[in-house]
Parts: sequence; structure tokens; C-alpha cells
Amino acid sequence: MQTKFNIPETDRERIVIIGAGFAGLELAKRLAKSRYQVVLLDKNNFHQFQPLFYQVAMAGLEPSSIVFPLRKMFQRNKNVHIRVTEVDKVDVEKQQIYTPIGYLNFDYLVLAIGADTNFFGNERIAEKAIPMKSVSEALYLRNQILSDYEKALITPDYDQRQKYLDIVVVGGGATGVEVCGSLAEMKEHILPKDYPELDCDEIDIHLIQSSDRLLKGMSDNASQGALDYLTKLGVKVQLNTRVKDYDGENVYMKDGSSIPTHKMIWAAGIAGNTIEGLPADCLVRGNRIKIDDYMAVKGAPRVFAIGDIAFLESEENPYGHPQVAQVAIQMGVRLAKNFKAESKGKLREKFEYNDKGSMATVGRNKAVVDLPNWKFKGAFAWFVWLFVHLFSLVGFKNKIIVFLNWVVNYFTYDQSLRLIIRPKEKKKILKK
Ligand SMILES: Cc1cc2nc3c(=O)[nH]c(=O)nc-3n(C[C@H](O)[C@H](O)[C@H](O)COP(=O)(O)OP(=O)(O)OC[C@H]3O[C@@H](n4cnc5c(N)ncnc54)[C@H](O)[C@@H]3O)c2cc1C
Repeated sequence: MQTKFNIPETDRERIVIIGAGFAGLELAKRLAKSRYQVVLLDKNNFHQFQPLFYQVAMAGLEPSSIVFPLRKMFQRNKNVHIRVTEVDKVDVEKQQIYTPIGYLNFDYLVLAIGADTNFFGNERIAEKAIPMKSVSEALYLRNQILSDYEKALITPDYDQRQKYLDIVVVGGGATGVEVCGSLAEMKEHILPKDYPELDCDEIDIHLIQSSDRLLKGMSDNASQGALDYLTKLGVKVQLNTRVKDYDGENVYMKDGSSIPTHKMIWAAGIAGNTIEGLPADCLVRGNRIKIDDYMAVKGAPRVFAIGDIAFLESEENPYGHPQVAQVAIQMGVRLAKNFKAESKGKLREKFEYNDKGSMATVGRNKAVVDLPNWKFKGAFAWFVWLFVHLFSLVGFKNKIIVFLNWVVNYFTYDQSLRLIIRPKEKKKILKK
């Protein structure tokens, strides 16, 4: 029998939020001064800014500049209680959640647990490919890329060396495009200086996309723009090509071709994180949780789901809303307003997404932006991308650090963060 964990019992109604990503954090911030007791649970003690993971992976930013400690954010809010733990199970009837540190009752539960990498059931790819869905995975990728250049330098055999130098990126969405653009710029501006003994022309960057265009969720203008930029930067883009398998040495395509490499970055899809105990029929495609217009989980009126995990079907969005930060934030905002309205005896309102547009960057002065009434690309689009991402970051210090990094990089093409830092392994104690 699990013990209850130590959250004070008060006469306030308790809202338990699982997940401090874009959706959960926005909700918690907006309820911080409300009449509710808010319990915010996350497996990490920080919020991560996923859109800039690729810059950590490409040694453009330090991990600390794109994460923000949760406790610092709620230092002055006595009605917000934070616990670092992973929620395993929910009991909708008993209104309880279960975690390794104990169980807890809720009046309302909000699932803001986001999504993780989807390997579409291919266990070998899951084991060998490198995903980028957390800051630790981004850091792992940075170590891997830099270590492999070191290994290439001491590998005389051409074929073996190629495997260390070449990189395959799978998935032509924003992440894949941004990673490839960044790698191509690193190849052109940084590696020849850091590794003068390496022939950087030997480095090939491959982008594999299963459909007939990049950035599928964006306009044709943006897709074509991204393809043109990447091609100009020397990235080998293969459209209409599906990866079948990867054994750590070769990437195998469905059409029978293969590419030898020690690094395959997997940015080809996401699937919702799972929690046991939800009504059986509320899960839909991609492991998302079906919600109604008020974001309540089908069959569990006191349980809500917001952000990437939520699936709200409508005429405009028959496949649910896009799994992007704006949807998550706007769901958090609407749900907070609804809770506050309800506590004052007012009516809740339906969630309506206000699509402010989407964007992706390929490299310096190369970005594509789709606004509802204006689609553009190039240097101005790149500045818009920088501005939007800078202002979306959590924490004033983070904004300043990222801004300074970008300015230094703009003028020098080089921000000296190319460090291979690994956790120290404990030495084995030898028994006599
Ligand atoms: C590499 C990358 C680049 C991206 N770029 C963009 C972009 O440029 N623009 C854009 O709009 N969107 C982008 N996205 C998508 C965007 O980041 C997501 O849409 C957004 O993060 C969704 O927010 P969320 O709150 O639903 O989930 P998340 O931000 O994923 O947060 C979920 C939280 O739940 C926690 N959690 C999960 N399970 C549990 C559990 N069982 N117990 C406790 N805690 C749990 C996690 O630790 C995490 O903190 C990108 C995503 C990635 C991965």
C-alpha cells in the first residue's frame, strides 16, 4: 500500500497538473494566484524549451540557457506545490494519481504530459538511432557528433572514416530541417578551423523524408524554400524515401539502397506519453487523449488533457490540432480561464485555436515563415524567427544569454561550446 505524499490538506480545491512543458507551465502560472491549490508534477525539476534543442545538439547553446528551474518560477506562490516524480497511474473513479513517491488525491487532474519520439515499433531503430526529445538527448547528440569527428581524425581507412563523418537525419519536419541546416553551417564555417587535418568535403549530410516535400505542415512556398536552402548548403535531400532499418552501421531504405553511418538522427515522428488507468476508449491515433471542446477527457469529466497529448477533433482539424507550442500554450490559457470562471460561478468557454502562423529556420539569413496572410522567406524571416524564439524563452537571464550567443555567433561564426562532457562513470571496486 502506497503512502500519500506530503501536500498540505486545505479547504481549497486541488488541481493536480502532470507535466511542466508549454501547456502545464502556462496553466500553473495562470493559476498561481487563484483560489485553487495547484500541485505541479514533472519528472524533471525544470522546464525545457524544445524548439532550441537542435542548437544545444549543434554546440550553439549551452543546455542551461534553454531550461528553467520550476521552483524559481513559483518562489512567491505558496499555493503552488512542486514535486519531481513520474506519474505512473491514474484512478479516475477514486480521483487519485500514483507515483514512486506515493499517491495523491485530486479534485481536478490535468494531463499535460506531452509526447515522446515515435519509432513506429521498430526496436532496432529505437535502440540505435539518436532521438532529440529532451535536453539530455540533445547533449548526447552533441557529444556523439564531436566524438565522431575526433575518431575520424585517427581513422586512416576511407570507408571506416566515412561512417564517423557522415550523418543521416530522418524526418523532414522543422527539427530535421533545422538540424541539417545547422550541421551544414558547422561543416562550412567551424570544422575546417577546428580540424584542419580533416578533409571536410568528405562529410555528407543526408536528409531522408518519406513524403514528397519538406515541412509538410507548412505552405508549398515554405517547403520549396527549405529544400532550396538545404540544397544550396550541400545537404543531400532524398524525398519519397522511407527508412526501413538501422543497425548502427548502415541505414537501410525501403527501396533497397543504404547509407553507411554511425549516426542516424531520428526526427520522424512523435507519440503521446502514456499513463495507466485512463478510460479505454479515450486513446486515439498517435497515443493522444480524446478531449471535448472544454478539454475534458472523454468519459472522465474531472480529468483534462492539454498540449501535444490532447486530441480535439473538429471540422477544421479532423486529425486534431498541430502538436506545436502555440496550441499547448493557448490550451493552458483557456483552461486556466475556465477554472477561474468556474470558481466564481461563471460559465466555461470552449477552446478555440488562434493560429498565429508557423516558421522554421535553415541557417543564417535563411528561414521560412507562414503567417495567416503573408508567407515570406530569407533574411527578414530569419530575424522574425530569432525574435519570436528569443521572446518565447522562459527566464530573463536565458533570453540575455541566448541573445549574446547569437550575436557572437553572427559576427564570428563560432561560439566555442564544442565540449565533449560526459558524466563520470563510477570505478568498479575490485574485490580481493
Ligand atoms: C526538437 C523539437 C523542436 C520543436 N520545435 C518547435 C518549434 O519550432 N515551434 C513549435 O511551436 N513547436 C516546436 N516543437 C513542438 C513543441 O515543443 C511541443 O508542441 C510542445 O513542447 C508541447 O508542449 P506540451 O506541454 O504539450 O508537452 P511538453 O513540452 O513535451 O511537456 C511535457 C512535460 O511532461 C513531463 N512528463 C511526461 N510524462 C510525465 C509523467 N508520467 N510524469 C511526470 N511528468 C511527465 C515531461 O517531463 C515534460 O516536462 C518542437 C519539438 C521538438 C521535440
